[in-house]
Amino acid sequence: MSLLITDVGTLVTNDPALGQGPLGLLQDAAVVVEGSRIAWVGPAAAAPAADERFDARHRALLPGFVDSHAHLVFAGDRTAEFNARMSGQAYSAGGIRTTVAATRAATDAELDANLVRFLREALHQGTTTVECKSGYGLTVADEARALRIAASHTPETTYLGAHVVAPEFADDPAGYVDLVTGEMLDACAPHARWVDVFCERGAFDGDQARAVLTAGAKRGLIPRVHANQLSYGPGVQLAVELGAASADHCTHLTDEDVAALAGSETVATLLPGAEFSTRAAYPNARRLLDAGATVALSTDCNPGSSFTSSMAFCIAVAVREMGMTPDEAVHAATAGGAKALRRSDVGVITLGARADLLLLEAPSHVHLAYRPGVPLTAAVWRAGAREF
Ligand SMILES: [Zn+2]
Repeated sequence: MSLLITDVGTLVTNDPALGQGPLGLLQDAAVVVEGSRIAWVGPAAAAPAADERFDARHRALLPGFVDSHAHLVFAGDRTAEFNARMSGQAYSAGGIRTTVAATRAATDAELDANLVRFLREALHQGTTTVECKSGYGLTVADEARALRIAASHTPETTYLGAHVVAPEFADDPAGYVDLVTGEMLDACAPHARWVDVFCERGAFDGDQARAVLTAGAKRGLIPRVHANQLSYGPGVQLAVELGAASADHCTHLTDEDVAALAGSETVATLLPGAEFSTRAAYPNARRLLDAGATVALSTDCNPGSSFTSSMAFCIAVAVREMGMTPDEAVHAATAGGAKALRRSDVGVITLGARADLLLLEAPSHVHLAYRPGVPLTAAVWRAGAREF
């Protein structure tokens, strides 16, 4: 079956060869989907016939969002902690242990149902690719279980046994790193594509992070790093040195950190939901973009420090608070996320790409930042199937 989506007011292809500027913008455009793939892109007046026809009524069509950083296998929530923090308490990495206790106590079915709920919530907001981390189990069995459950819903699964030191190892962090790089890695590697570490004071230092990432890489997992979120530190430099796909957060960067990212293939993934939800200073996207770094935007969806699944919200905050233009923010939330996941089949609307499409209830993609908090999803297709 083929589908013609025609009378698209603004089409974001993310391919400069297809249209205007870095977003490859086309006005009065059309797209043909065949099966799960994009089969044709161009001016509506020149569009070929198809089995079915969808009239976009001059609204904006863009690639489905690629959320390259999320923590969705968990149980419980942390409403009380958020409420206390918004009443004046400081955020530290330790609150993760609250979710660890709830996650360990949950059944497989409960964790799966929770994950499915959040994936659908994201899909209805236009997110068609989601990365999903472990990190709330912190035992061999609980980490492997989290990744097994995640892998049944997304190929983008990340082993984050090194989220924080498990409570049982509070007096023996070196012993916990041995577990994460040994028996736990053995159990988790078959279910994961990526390996990640929270490189931060109160979590894992540079040497520990290096041990976790190199052990994962030896098992075929590709590194990505929670880097420089709460303070300056070695995370970004380590990510670049090890050829990580992304350095995530990048809130506290030295000039050397910015230069290292700009001179590498490592994507700087910014997560404004975390700064919003912890009332912290935002990362400076303008500085990274002007230096030539590739920037991605993601939700960091998790119950502790960023409980949003809305990429549109992240775009709006990035434009208002982080120095990004609306075009840059939309690019970062689609093509940027795809690059952070080393995917060329998503985050673009080009010939042969997966037909992941978001139709907005608006004539332009700029409305994602221009109309913050407004539900703008008009339709979503994933791999050619209408999902919303
Ligand atoms: Zn995270």
